[in-house]
Order: sequence, then structure tokens, then C-alpha cells
Amino acid sequence: MPQVERQAARERFLQFLEQKNLRLTSQRKAIVDAVFATDRHFTAEQLLEMARKHDPTVSRATVYRTLPLLTENGLVHEMDFGKDYKVYDPNYAEHPNHNHIICGDCDKIVEFESDKLDQLENEITHRLGFAIKSQQLRITGSCDELKKLGACRNKHS
Ligand SMILES: [Zn+2]
Ligand SMILES: [Zn+2]
Repeated sequence: MPQVERQAARERFLQFLEQKNLRLTSQRKAIVDAVFATDRHFTAEQLLEMARKHDPTVSRATVYRTLPLLTENGLVHEMDFGKDYKVYDPNYAEHPNHNHIICGDCDKIVEFESDKLDQLENEITHRLGFAIKSQQLRITGSCDELKKLGACRNKHS
């Protein structure tokens, strides 16, 4: 996300907290800062790690309480890849139609967009008498490392 949009999104979220009568504690601020400093997908545990770089006192509980606020506000998108944890995507506001390919072993996620795919989805939707609201395609596969080495070095623990 470009810096200007990042700032605007951050402001929107702070207003949203105000509307909900939620205080912007320094822990919550650290979480928000961490979210707006990354373009990468993250898990709750990774967010905790990132937030602690801004404020070492951030607790796991605060992260788990703040994440639903971020998803409710549309700032991050919660994704279920069928794992025992959710993945959060900070890139949805900017690219709502992007797709994901994920390695079945190390959970490496790569984003992609495709005009062809968009076109195909439009055609199918039109043919079935629907109007598209959102679309996402998720592909599970073997990353380069898994293909070449038979194992992924950065396996998610
Ligand atoms: Zn994404
Ligand atoms: Zn892999």
C-alpha cells in the first residue's frame, strides 16, 4: 500500500475505534502500526511478533481482540486455508480481486491477478444470471523448493 493510502487507512481505523468507544492504547497502536507497515500476509502469532517490535508489552490477548476489529473494518481480510490458524491479508482494500497460491508444505503464499481469470469469471457469472460481488481463487501447490529439494526450509511450525 502506498504511504499516503496507508496513512488514510490508519486514520479511518482510528476513527472507527473512536466510534466504538474503544481507547487507542499504546498496545493497540503498536498492532495497528505493525499491520500498516507490512504488505505481507500474516498469522496472529506473526502479528504479535511484529507488534512487539513497536511495543514489547503487547499481549497475545490484545492481538486476538484487535484482529476482529481490523477485519470488521475491512482493513485486513481473514483467510482460511484449511490450516489450524487463519491468515490475514493486508492487501484487500487495494486489490480486492487478487488470488492466492499457497504451498501445501511451507505455507508460502504468492498473490496473483489475472485479467483472463476476471474475464472468465465475468462470463460464467453472467451466463448463470448473477452479478459478481467478489471473487477469489485459491490454488494449493508445491513451491519451487518443495519441487526441487523435496522439502521446504521455512516450514511453518
Ligand atoms: Zn493477498
Ligand atoms: Zn514450500
